Amino acid sequence: APPRARPHVVLLASPGAGHLIPMAELARRLVELHGFAATIVTFTNLSGSPGQLLPRLPASVATAALPAVRMDDLPADAHDGFVLLELVRRSVPNIRALLRSINDGSSAAPLAALVPDFLCSVALPVAAELGVPGYLFIPSNLALVALTRHILELHEDAAPGEYRDLPVPLELLGGVSLCREDLPDGCGSSRHPGYEQVVELGRRIRAADGILVNTFYEMEPGTAEAFKRLAVPEQAAGAFLFPPVFPVGPFVRGPDPDEAAVGASSPCLEWLDRQPVGSVVYVAFGSGGALSVEQTAELAAGLEASGQRFLWVVRMPRTDGADDEDPSTAGGDDPLAWLPEGFLARTSDRGLAVAAWAPQVRMLAHPATAAFVSHCGWNSTLENVGCGVPMLAWPLYAEQRMNALLLEQKLGMALRVPPSREDGRCLVTRHEIAKAVKELMEGD
Ligand code: UDP
Repeated sequence: APPRARPHVVLLASPGAGHLIPMAELARRLVELHGFAATIVTFTNLSGSPGQLLPRLPASVATAALPAVRMDDLPADAHDGFVLLELVRRSVPNIRALLRSINDGSSAAPLAALVPDFLCSVALPVAAELGVPGYLFIPSNLALVALTRHILELHEDAAPGEYRDLPVPLELLGGVSLCREDLPDGCGSSRHPGYEQVVELGRRIRAADGILVNTFYEMEPGTAEAFKRLAVPEQAAGAFLFPPVFPVGPFVRGPDPDEAAVGASSPCLEWLDRQPVGSVVYVAFGSGGALSVEQTAELAAGLEASGQRFLWVVRMPRTDGADDEDPSTAGGDDPLAWLPEGFLARTSDRGLAVAAWAPQVRMLAHPATAAFVSHCGWNSTLENVGCGVPMLAWPLYAEQRMNALLLEQKLGMALRVPPSREDGRCLVTRHEIAKAVKELMEGD
């Protein structure tokens, strides 16, 4: 008899390290642990990110790049999020063509399911057209799914115009309570420009056959239990209709075996190797986060004042403040040029600052690393939880404030830096930073 065809899962990954990295790991496990064939589909536009952002895909996973689509008619000041969603929307005909070619009957691995990540949810109806299930992948947590469900429910139940602001504190399914400051951008009020997108995303999520979430039971036990109960038809009777939710993570990329084989190939690791065990504060804000120029200087001063060893992955500062200079004219495109005068020389015996990128999973797993100052991106969070390093939570945008709340209040893994608001500015002062870092390193 001919060998049985392997079912083929096609995963659709929006650009960005935070989405691609966990999706690549999901694909690898589908192939290596569950006997599927898997193809990761990526977008050609917007791929200008540095090469190291792309995880090295396991050889067992196939890849396909969608053809570029025309985007030059969009206004120059269009918001990044809008551009991304528009790119996916314009690519739907190409996605359909690709899936049809896999589904044409001749393939040894016929199409079995489509798994877009949440920013590619506009492609979900193509799965239904082709008669296969569509599962949505959420690279974040169950709390975000619960929040989206909650907003959608409020929105759909309200008479038009009746509901404007989310009632706070917001009690989510599973016992997470959010105040206004913890809400992700665009979620708090129907008057926020991002609100429509949140509702639209919620509607599409609701149409999925199932939701795969990059988290695990112990990270969010209350919410996991609540979703489990809702999956039992008798218990869900009368509840807001929503697809089944599966915590299937954590999808953390292990250290690259080839890299590990050649030893400490990165200057960061070589430096860490020379530091005492449990002595270094690792500081990184992910692939998309940026501090203001003023905040970058304040962080430098705080690290200096803490007296601790540190390894800081410095990103280009953001320059939307009135006092900030334009980096292209002032510091060029070298993030280190934005550090305060003399800072690198004064701290050279105990600190290392590197531009843009470090092999994070290996940094967190290194015995010299004792604490992590983090923007609380969900991948960073999971990577760090796996290494058991206490955190200083410094959320910047998206759902990071909510992640910080889970880490601080539910899991007891993080301290939080309180931003001070002065003259309309929002700044974490050097004093707070030094105090918190010391507390992390020396306190209970
Ligand atoms: N990352 C890295 N080196 C860096 C910064 C980030 O390897 O210097 C990786 C990090 O390990 C994580 C991902 O990039 O896997 C960032 O995802 P996360 O969800 O933490 O934050 P985002 O970049 O989406 O804000």
